[in-house]
Amino acid sequence: MSRSKIVIAIDGPAASGKSSTAAWVARELGFQHLDSGMLYRAETGRRLGIADLRSPEVTANVSAVAQIPSVRAAVNAELRRIAETENVVVDGRDIGSVVFPDAQLKIFLVADPWERARRRLHQKLGRAVLDAEIADETRRLVERDASDATNTLQARDAVLIDTTYLTQEEQVQRIVSLAQEC
Ligand code: C5P
Repeated sequence: MSRSKIVIAIDGPAASGKSSTAAWVARELGFQHLDSGMLYRAETGRRLGIADLRSPEVTANVSAVAQIPSVRAAVNAELRRIAETENVVVDGRDIGSVVFPDAQLKIFLVADPWERARRRLHQKLGRAVLDAEIADETRRLVERDASDATNTLQARDAVLIDTTYLTQEEQVQRIVSLAQEC
């Protein structure tokens, strides 16, 4: 049975700009944005008794919690339940491959690790960042990429977009244009 509602899946590694891009695309199209990473963070925060879901403690533990099959099943069920009645832009690691293999549009975002680290720090600190800080953050990101590797699954029919040299507006416009062609 084909879907009656539209799903746009945006996958990619940590700090590839998925969530902010997905939020912006959703606004442009009037769709709902579902951030699957936040659901994994929420479950991790609940288990640790921590309220700040972007804290280093939650970030350091979320990959392990996201490996638990019952946690994945609950997150996926929640995403599918919402997408039955809403047009959605969903971002994560396995959205186009596992959660919504029938999504009308699948995007896989990649970017150079150094650039991902630079953007993440710049966003967090709101100032220019030192190379030594970027080097540290790059190491953390590459470690998280490794622990997320089994759950980061690029769908065969996903459109690969390398954002290393794109502005966020450019990547949003590219995805919105693809969505309008669907
Ligand atoms: O996107 P974000 O960095 O907030 O995701 C937090 C964590 O949630 C990831 O590091 C990964 O362990 C997990 N995740 C996942 N599958 C998804 C989305 C996120 O395993 N679809």
